[in-house]
Amino acid sequence: MHDQIHTTACPECDLLLSFSETLANHSLCCPRCGCQVHKRISDWLEKTLVLSATGLLLYLPALLLPLMTLETLGMTDSGNVLDTILVFYKNGYFVVALVVLVSAVFLPLLLLSLIFTITLSLTLHRYSAFLLKLFRLYIFLEEWAMVEIYLLGIMVTIMKMRHTAEIHFNPGFFCFTALVLISMGISTFLDKEQIWSTIATKGGKRPSGDGLPTAAPENEHAAQPQTALRSGLVLCHTCRQLQPLQPGTAEPSVPCTRCGSLIHSRKPESISQTSALILTSAFLLIPANILPIMQVQFMGVPEYSTIVDGIRFFFQDGAYLIGLIILTASVLVPIFKIFGLVILLYTTRFQRNFYLREKAVLFRFISFIGRWSMLDIFVIALLTVLVNFGFFTSIHAAPAATYFCIVVTSTMFAATTFDPRLMWDSCRPDERSTDPAPPRVSPSSSIDPL
Ligand SMILES: [Zn+2]
Ligand SMILES: [Zn+2]
Repeated sequence: MHDQIHTTACPECDLLLSFSETLANHSLCCPRCGCQVHKRISDWLEKTLVLSATGLLLYLPALLLPLMTLETLGMTDSGNVLDTILVFYKNGYFVVALVVLVSAVFLPLLLLSLIFTITLSLTLHRYSAFLLKLFRLYIFLEEWAMVEIYLLGIMVTIMKMRHTAEIHFNPGFFCFTALVLISMGISTFLDKEQIWSTIATKGGKRPSGDGLPTAAPENEHAAQPQTALRSGLVLCHTCRQLQPLQPGTAEPSVPCTRCGSLIHSRKPESISQTSALILTSAFLLIPANILPIMQVQFMGVPEYSTIVDGIRFFFQDGAYLIGLIILTASVLVPIFKIFGLVILLYTTRFQRNFYLREKAVLFRFISFIGRWSMLDIFVIALLTVLVNFGFFTSIHAAPAATYFCIVVTSTMFAATTFDPRLMWDSCRPDERSTDPAPPRVSPSSSIDPL
């Protein structure tokens, strides 16, 4: 065995890690905070190329063909994904229309096009520094595409309307479902490290890890955590390359030598930006829940309903699972995110370094669930388009939709601006941990099967 030893740092706790080549379809997890640091996927290039090409072929039918037709008392109404945006725009809900347009229409197309261009270029052995810019854009935007949440919105709409109208599935529904499965497949099979290193090495950039020690440097407390910052190194947020700090400066303002992103040892103004975004979300959560989010017009008589009214409808109807999903996505998740981020900010600001491993799990959970709160907005968009039977009955969005949309986006930004490494910085190298059950702290790597 003559495995090459690589050095990297955990993106969430900054612990320096050394590891030999990761096995295919295995991932490398940080022994201190549990964050996935590295993964290796076999045949990733072929899989992502085929999936992105298929996704591009399905994109137009998925968006332009009608999703469903609702039939009641001899009247029918149908609509596609684009209609759901136009209806918000026509009714003056510009913020909501923009968020749905970006997350359900524009970004899925852009991300598929970027991955297709990159994987096709790599397959044809055409390497250029421009591919790095394209992949940087992909990494920056990937969490804002929400086709899978839109699909869940379609499912909830079906459950909501199943007693009121007869539902016929149209080709657009099947194409959209396939598009969602393809997007999930691309996220699973994409080997980001391989893309960065292939483009950078073949495109004439510095190879990964150039100029770094081949193993994590030993400090005087061999069993204690050694971080990148304490070793004069900095991890790029975008491509996760470890590189030396600029001599004499605590905060480098130079671009990453591999991907070109501006690198910082810690995200600048992280605490103040996250605090401002949380305050905005907490403040707007009040009108989002008190004001009506939807207006149902029946025989010309308007009836307004809030988020909670919508949840009550499902529970009274006996659809407990859907009621629970909407309750979780629309009420519990935003509140949980705000409280969770306040705990993390408190930990960082006042150096309360206990239960850090649990708080790291909390941060990952908050980052993962934030986008699912868009579910209610997508359901209202679909209902507005599909339930439009003129004077008989129609559904429209109401003012809380705009407030709710801003709450969801600002909590998502808050999770992005928070730098979890700041939590761990108060763990001094000579301090093991004040946790009742301290995690295993070691500069060595642990490999967990995917
Ligand atoms: Zn870690
Ligand atoms: Zn980089």
